[in-house]
Amino acid sequence: MTYVPNNPTAAVFAFDNTYARELEGFYVPWKAAQAAQPRLVLLNRELAEELGLDADALDSEEGARIFVGNETPEGSLPLAQAYAGHQFGGFVPQLGDGRALLLGEVIDQKGRRRDIQLKGSGSTPFSRAGDGRAALGPVLREYLIGEAMHALGIPTTRALAAVVTGEPVYRETALPGAVLTRVAASHIRVGTFQFFAARGDQAKVRRLADYVIDRHYPELKGHADRYLRLLERVRDVQAALIAGWMHVGFIHGVMNTDNMAISGETIDYGPCAFMDHYDPATVFSSIDTLGRYAYANQPRIAQWNLARLAETLLPLIDADQNRAIARASEVVNAFPEQYGRQWLKGMRPKLGLASEEEADFNLATGFLNSMEGKKVDYTLAFRYLADAALGQEEPIRAQFADASAYDLWSGHWRARLSRESVAPLERAQAMRRVNPAFIPRNHRVEQALSAAVERGDYAPFRTLLNILSRPFDGQPEFADFGQPTPEGQERYQTF
Ligand code: AMP
Ligand code: MG
Repeated sequence: MTYVPNNPTAAVFAFDNTYARELEGFYVPWKAAQAAQPRLVLLNRELAEELGLDADALDSEEGARIFVGNETPEGSLPLAQAYAGHQFGGFVPQLGDGRALLLGEVIDQKGRRRDIQLKGSGSTPFSRAGDGRAALGPVLREYLIGEAMHALGIPTTRALAAVVTGEPVYRETALPGAVLTRVAASHIRVGTFQFFAARGDQAKVRRLADYVIDRHYPELKGHADRYLRLLERVRDVQAALIAGWMHVGFIHGVMNTDNMAISGETIDYGPCAFMDHYDPATVFSSIDTLGRYAYANQPRIAQWNLARLAETLLPLIDADQNRAIARASEVVNAFPEQYGRQWLKGMRPKLGLASEEEADFNLATGFLNSMEGKKVDYTLAFRYLADAALGQEEPIRAQFADASAYDLWSGHWRARLSRESVAPLERAQAMRRVNPAFIPRNHRVEQALSAAVERGDYAPFRTLLNILSRPFDGQPEFADFGQPTPEGQERYQTF
């Protein structure tokens, strides 16, 4: 890390803060807590450049002060956003940014508006019983998994920086405190709508909906049915997002309505983790005792969350309540169909299919069914399918203790492939571009995090981050990182 001394133009952010300007009453202006000894431990230089920031200038003591909240960069109007949410099905009328501050918005190199937010920067009026802090382990986890998701091509918030505060946070034990700088298309959630709807403040729900249309779905501006269309857009981006999660075996773990972004990005990486062997009932989160947010439940939960958004929009959709309910229900009820379409759209290339046939849905579910109950690694099964397409069946067959279910299925699969005139090598290469060799394996994530947290050794974290930034490249020198959790360590729990 290079310190740029006394460079007055060092860290310049071209903030343009529409949320602060246009949505008064939707937030509380606030200041971060001062940290004793901030030290920048990670800076996402590629993302910094994408945001039009000077990575060299930020890779400095000044960068550490900014990303911990000690120094407010010019043009920033730090604020804590109000929101509510259904947590595990129960409504909490006031949540809000209890440990986060929006610094402001910038326009990135591609012209997209992005939020820059600190997470773990101290208590706010929304903190309730919380301390407003974040521990280093979860900050690094969010950094790593978010970046892995980005590299996998799944819409997500991203990590710009991680700073250790030099102060302890107290959980079950004392842990090093840290602040994550998060970048998002916006931090508007289903729960943001719920906050105002629950207070009967229809004017604010309308203002928020108009703001969201302006910012995320401008093609709807001036449309007579814009609020219904907004619900439809959110349905479609969520259907595509959840399909993306399912394709890579991602389990969010806490799909509360306050953790569902209106933009369609994955947000709030807490107890999330990737499934090892294929099992639809997989749950990693220790608090999800009923399996509400299990792998296979994610599409249903997204639809449930969408229905909660629909409820907040009813008065805007139609003055006649019955008619509003009928119209909104039609949109929400079409979620499974939208989701199914997105799922199959992603599954075809994973199976090496270039064309579309009616029975492809059954072929895709048939492959999953052949894995069920057999401890087959989900990621490797798809990765090795590319080898099978080249006639090398040993790797995939070896995944099955008893390969008879696979053999039965692969007969159908081969028959299907033979109806396409695609050269085997070309097909295998296309499959490897969509079936990752590397996902954040739970034991690798734990190793990387504990090296950093317990020993201040960030080398394993950086190695893993680098591997995961190219998940579709074979990277033979890191073959071990593609292997599943060793026997006996699979009963993984997240907190
Ligand atoms: P999460 O489970 O991270 O999605 O957070 C749910 C709610 O709890 C949000 O309103 C957070 O701001 C708040 N929260 C989580 N952790 C803390 C904390 N340590 N201090 C204050 N608020 C928190
Ligand atoms: Mg949250």
